[in-house]
Amino acid sequence: MSRVVELRGVGHRYVDGGVAALVDVDLDIEPGHLMAVHGRSGSGKTTLLNVIGGLLRPTDGTVNVCGVDLTQCSDAERIAVRRTSVGFVFQSFGLVPVLTAAENIEVPLRLIGMERSARRERVSELLDLVGLGARGRHRPGELSGGEQQRVAVARALSSSPRLLIADEPTGQLDSKTGRSIMALIESLVADAGLAAIVATHDPAVVSAADVRASIGDGRVT
Ligand code: ADP
Ligand code: MG
Repeated sequence: MSRVVELRGVGHRYVDGGVAALVDVDLDIEPGHLMAVHGRSGSGKTTLLNVIGGLLRPTDGTVNVCGVDLTQCSDAERIAVRRTSVGFVFQSFGLVPVLTAAENIEVPLRLIGMERSARRERVSELLDLVGLGARGRHRPGELSGGEQQRVAVARALSSSPRLLIADEPTGQLDSKTGRSIMALIESLVADAGLAAIVATHDPAVVSAADVRASIGDGRVT
């Protein structure tokens, strides 16, 4: 299978920030691999993940995701790659508080135009996959942090992406819950041939990864 992510010479400088957030980054991610990117706060992890996920266009270099060069394609193509090929998980879960767990997972399926009965089926499959079969009707406020992050993982996987991007997914969880979220992500990568990139400063996450990259002052080693 072809590479999921290929970065060449990627640099980024925020318009209003003096320092370079990314400097000459080359990075590859293969299907079936879990990559951990570790580095201190401010080292460039979020910038790197946002560039890979097509949320941010870097000022230098090329970013190829699932065969599409995100630095050259139109905004519409970039959004299409993001919706169909990439799933995001954030430290703060990012669920919509007024929607139930099932409805949160359903949102991306609506965006890709899946019809109602197929959506229902897919949502219940995903709830089972993350071990929340019985919790679909609860709102985020009625779920623990670990359960909310499971919902977020299910939502990220709803459109069967080839790449999962997780930005400090265990950052707001106690260590035991954090480990269970990482075990879930590891099993998804192993079973579904998904590629994943996880930014973290949690040593347990780093040790769970197949590939490790460290980042400091925007440089990846
Ligand atoms: P990390 O996720 O590792 O904490 P970030 O990618 O968020 O690191 O930040 C890398 C650098 O870019 C930091 O120096 C940060 O202050 C700067 N930065 C991040 N986002 C912005 C922004 N929107 N505008 C200007 N500077 C930013
Ligand atoms: Mg960050």
